Amino acid sequence: MNIILLGPPGAGKGTQAKMLVDKYGIPQISTGEILRANLKAGTQLGLEAKKYMDAGKLVPDEVVIGIINNRIQEEDCRRGYMLDGFPRTVAQAQALDKILAEQGSGIDDVISIEVADHELMGRLTGRRTCRQCGQGFHVMFDPPKVEGICDKCGGELYQRDDDNEKTVANRLKVYSDQTQPLIDYYKKKSLLRSIDGVGDIKEIFGRVVKVLG
Ligand SMILES: [Zn+2]
Repeated sequence: MNIILLGPPGAGKGTQAKMLVDKYGIPQISTGEILRANLKAGTQLGLEAKKYMDAGKLVPDEVVIGIINNRIQEEDCRRGYMLDGFPRTVAQAQALDKILAEQGSGIDDVISIEVADHELMGRLTGRRTCRQCGQGFHVMFDPPKVEGICDKCGGELYQRDDDNEKTVANRLKVYSDQTQPLIDYYKKKSLLRSIDGVGDIKEIFGRVVKVLG
């Protein structure tokens, strides 16, 4: 079971990923995490990646793919794995297909958790933070007892710049511009499984499990 997980910020991808790990016992592999692990272990590829990161540059595809390739050879990936945040581009997807094909393997399913932009805006702009104690709230999911006031310390709640409409709209646009070609790529290969990401968490997970068959 080799899966790729796609979903915009606010779609609940992290929650679904955790549930998949628990149900199927496959590891969740994110590029950032294994890059950090390689850096820490001082591997050849880790050192290579560090050169680019220290220079403030993007780690090139061949290095990232090398790191992913090493990771998926590990023992815990024998029954499958879930890639999260990789591939990001069609070029990476093609490179991944190539190395997997050489190993007689391939991607089985690309799960795309889909939520309409206006719903994502509501989720992502609803966060409020206490000026005094830093406690987080959410106007939809975890509202304070009194609007604008922290339950814990009575401090004033505010919206961080990261959570304002303009920033969030921009993040969503960047995600969609970057991901649409990838979605088209996997659709053409009949690997794309679109999941409605609106509803109860367990209900959404049920949809994911169903498409995985
Ligand atoms: Zn507070």
